[in-house]
Amino acid sequence: MSLVYLNGEWLRPDQAVVSVFDRGFLFADGIYEVVPFYQGHPLLIDHHLERLERSLEAIDIPNPLSNDEWVSVLQTLAEQVPEANAIVYIQVTRGAEYPRAHLPSEDIEPTFMATASHWTPPTTTPPPVNVELLEDIRWHRCDIKSISLLGNIHLKREAHRKGGFEPILHRAGRITEGASCNYFIVKDEVIYTPPADELILAGITREWIIQLAHELGLELKEEAFSVEDLMQADECFLSSSTREVQPVGTVGEQLIADGKTGRITDQLAQAFRNSRPVSVEESTDEN
Ligand code: PLP
Repeated sequence: MSLVYLNGEWLRPDQAVVSVFDRGFLFADGIYEVVPFYQGHPLLIDHHLERLERSLEAIDIPNPLSNDEWVSVLQTLAEQVPEANAIVYIQVTRGAEYPRAHLPSEDIEPTFMATASHWTPPTTTPPPVNVELLEDIRWHRCDIKSISLLGNIHLKREAHRKGGFEPILHRAGRITEGASCNYFIVKDEVIYTPPADELILAGITREWIIQLAHELGLELKEEAFSVEDLMQADECFLSSSTREVQPVGTVGEQLIADGKTGRITDQLAQAFRNSRPVSVEESTDEN
């Protein structure tokens, strides 16, 4: 079992405990980040650390470590799981203080932790999944990677109850994102993804796919699209650090085109796998 990094110390999981007065526990007053490692090599770690900094700044929590310190901690954690294929999780909360009060004091010190879990990066484009269309009931600062995920979890559970892998969320008929992913559609050879405004978390995978599309000479527009556009799309896929490029075949009862993985989706999924820091196909990991 991997060690836990907590407030500057390396601890066994059973030793890693925080106060019940931690504002993360009481108010979900904190930020998180997730960084994928492929055989010990992180993908786009600078982008993840930049987003961590941005999110912390947005809610006025000081970053407890420099980027170099974070990189060293994350690298050590990744190397503890089989083949160093790791999903490293970072969490920073505003800290603990007694008695419980909504307004934090000025001199409160953040609680910060990181832990790694093993994962198996996809080696081929996965088969299409079903997603469920639901109303986006979350707050209006979805650009902050907050640990306050009650809305996301509520929507994810609802989608699962209906047989969906993920929800596909809309606000007044305009698609936003999923509970833990971003969405893309393709129509007439043009790729569309909602703009990185305050209504979505701008995924690092999303940003990388935009870059890959440009490199491949594909036309991509960061533009709002409607539920109707989605239903009439030629292709649809979702993206996240752990799913990379995941084709979508159906939205509830409705097929997207013929329900199969689209050509451009597959092209991007392959380009994504080729852009990883190492060729994971060589992995012999069976865990
Ligand atoms: N949108 C939300 C709400 C998320 O929680 C996530 C990832 O957890 C994403 C999008 C995708 O982000 P990334 O590509 O950085 O994993």
